Order: sequence, then C-alpha cells, then structure tokens
Amino acid sequence: MESYWQRAQNVLPGGVNSPVRSFKGVGGEPFFVKRGQGPYLFDDQGRQYIDFVMSYGPLILGHAHPKVVAAVSEQATQGLSYGAPTDLEVEMAETLVQAVPGLEMVRMVNSGTEATMAAIRVARGVTGRDRILKFAGSYHGHGDSLLVKAGSGAATMGVPDSLGVPKALAELTLTVPYNDVDALRTVFNAVGDQIAAVIMEPVAGNMGTVLPQPGFLDTVRQLTRQYGALWIVDEVMTGFRVAWGGASRLFGLEPDLVCLAKVIGAGMPVGAYGGKKSYMQEVAPLGPVYQAGTLSGNPVAMAAGLAQLHEIHQPDFYSQLEQKTRTLAEELVARGRAHGIAVSANTIGGMFTLFFSDMPPRNFDEVSHSDHARYRKFFHGMLEQGVFFPPSPFETAFPSWAHTEATIQATLEAADRVFQQL
Ligand SMILES: *Cc1c(COP(=O)(O)O)cnc(C)c1O
Repeated sequence: MESYWQRAQNVLPGGVNSPVRSFKGVGGEPFFVKRGQGPYLFDDQGRQYIDFVMSYGPLILGHAHPKVVAAVSEQATQGLSYGAPTDLEVEMAETLVQAVPGLEMVRMVNSGTEATMAAIRVARGVTGRDRILKFAGSYHGHGDSLLVKAGSGAATMGVPDSLGVPKALAELTLTVPYNDVDALRTVFNAVGDQIAAVIMEPVAGNMGTVLPQPGFLDTVRQLTRQYGALWIVDEVMTGFRVAWGGASRLFGLEPDLVCLAKVIGAGMPVGAYGGKKSYMQEVAPLGPVYQAGTLSGNPVAMAAGLAQLHEIHQPDFYSQLEQKTRTLAEELVARGRAHGIAVSANTIGGMFTLFFSDMPPRNFDEVSHSDHARYRKFFHGMLEQGVFFPPSPFETAFPSWAHTEATIQATLEAADRVFQQL
C-alpha cells in the first residue's frame, strides 16, 4: 500500500504545502502528524516527539492549549465567518494597539505574507516612491518584491530569488547585509530619496536567530527619518514571541509600520499590519491604498488569538520563557563543546538557534559558513531520539510555555547521546 508520503508527492508539489516541511534541507522523509499536545507531536506511526518547531512560532503556549481550544470550539458553534464586523475584531485591534509601540491603527489579514505585502503598498502609497530596502537572509513572506536574493558585497541590485518574479519588480528591492551599518549608509547616500521603506526583522529569525548588534536598529531609524523613508518593523516572528508587544517594545523602537502574525493567531491563519494613523488612514475604505480580504479578522481566528494573548499577558510569562530557552541553548552549547564540537547559539525570548560554528553568527554570510552537514546529522540524530528540531540550519527553534523543566532535561540528554556520534 502506498504511504501518505508517496500519495502526497503525487498531488502536492514536493509532497507539502510549504517547502521547509519537505525536509529537503536535511534529507529524508517527513513524518505525518496525527496530533499535538503541550510540547509533544505524535505521528501516524504512534511515535512521540518533543517539538521545537511549534508550527514555526505561533504556539507559544504549546499544542492544543485548553483555553485556546475552548475559545475556538465556542466560537465555531456560532458560525465560522460572516462578512460583517464582530466585537472580536475590535478587541483584537485594541489589544494589539495597547501592546505594540507605534501601532495606532491596525488591519487584520490572513498571513504574515499578506501583512508585509500590504505594509509595503502603504509605504509606497504614502511616500510616492517605489524602491524598498531589505536585509540579506531576512524573510518577509513570498511577495514578489520580497523574494530577492542576498548579494555579496555592500549593496546589491535585486536579483529575483524565484522564477516568476518580474525583473522590473525585483530591481526595486535593494539588499544589504544584516548588521552592516556602513553598507546601509552607502545605499542611503546614493538613493535614499527614492526609498519608500526599509523592511526588517528587528531580530532576524529566518536565517536562524541573529541578534541586532548595538547601534544597528538606531542607525536604521535615523537614516529612514533623515531620508523620509518609512521603517517597517516585521514582527511576524518576534511579535509577542520575544516580549509582550514584541521586539519594538523590548528595545523601545519607534516603527512607522509594524507587521504581525504567528503568535497573535495562536496557530490559526492570522496576520496584521498597522502603524501611525496618518499612514493607516490611507488604507481603503478611508484612503486610496486598496487592500481587502474575505476572511480577514475571521471570528474563529480572532477567538484563538485573543485567548492566547490573554493567557500569556502575565508578569512572569516572558522572563520564565526566556529563562527556559536560555538554559536549553546554553546547555546544548556546553555539552556540544564538551564533546569537542564547534557549536554556538543565539537566543532571545522564546527563540534560539544552535549553530555549528565557533562564534554566534551576525549575518547571513556567517550563518552560511556554519557546518550544515553537521546540522543535518544533529537533526536526524535528535529525530531518532524523539526530538523535533527545525529541518534546516536557517530556522529558529521555538520553546513554549508547555516545555517543562523535565522536557528540557530530556532534550539535553538526547543531545548528549547525539553529540557523541557527531
Ligand atoms: C513567517 C514570517 C513571514 C511570513 O508569514 P506567513 O504567515 O508564513 O506568510 C514574514 N515575515 C517574517 C519575519 C516571518 O517570520
């Protein structure tokens, strides 16, 4: 009999609905999930895994948290979607506006990709400029303007990262290395008055976790102001993941526009973008920047997100999550090194990445030079031990509230056995 993986490959491109799920980066076949509970995934063969993928970030309370499940079930009995406003949308918007600096008005959408695409449209609309700037190795969803390959050197003119992206569009996207203040200045000096927006992850998470170096974020803010470009802080991953209110609140940033998704949707398809009223008033039906969505602000998704946000809004939530994450990352590094392995980690809030390199990377180039062959062995070794790490050395791992002390210890013991074989 054909397995689901064989059947999947017949009818889904690469067998999956999002590329990284195919294990292409690490080789082998993905497992098929039957259910998730707390920190665990269970596959259709009855195997249990400690999960550090956590749907790539949204599940900060773990799988199937009772409060989130109850909120979803209750709302579902009242209907799944209406095409007319609900109280839940207002409560979600007010929650976000109170928590996130610079967020005065917000529009709900269905994914992070939608949020970044719309934010860029707003920035282009209000500035009357077409160019945007992003950082190499940063991911902002699969929108045309954002799928642009990182070049080497200071600034690179956009080369599309994907077939099907018109060259004319890709050329409008400028790319500089993350944490490279000089390259950024050079680009602004040359074409700063043509740049509609800088879009960035305040902590990079899609080249693995990479922290902003001191002064980097300040420089971006200063240059965007000086040249009249908007600063789009893409908090799709970091929002409510590194702190309540996201990295913007943690670092005291003053973004012009903010993008959110993942944690605010608790595992439902949710995104949001917003910022100063003067910009958001340009969005339809108030203004001439058009953006819409049949399922945007979906009541079941809002109920899930609100239940999760309510549950994590407690004084010790983030300090405890960060403590757990830090302990795990530091202990993994210590144990790897005890086995003579060059290993390092970057960590913040509920995000970390283990890199097989002497020093923690500061940009995409340095991540690229870590030992990917070793990561592949680590990944498969851990999977055999029943621990699911991201199937790519360029991804972030996401501990959750549900990862208890015992889960962390079990992970470390598994890692000890795996490091021995590396
Ligand atoms: C995940 C992610 C996106 C894309 O969000 P989707 O919901 O997958 O479309 C955009 N930006 C960042 C920083 C992300 O981490």
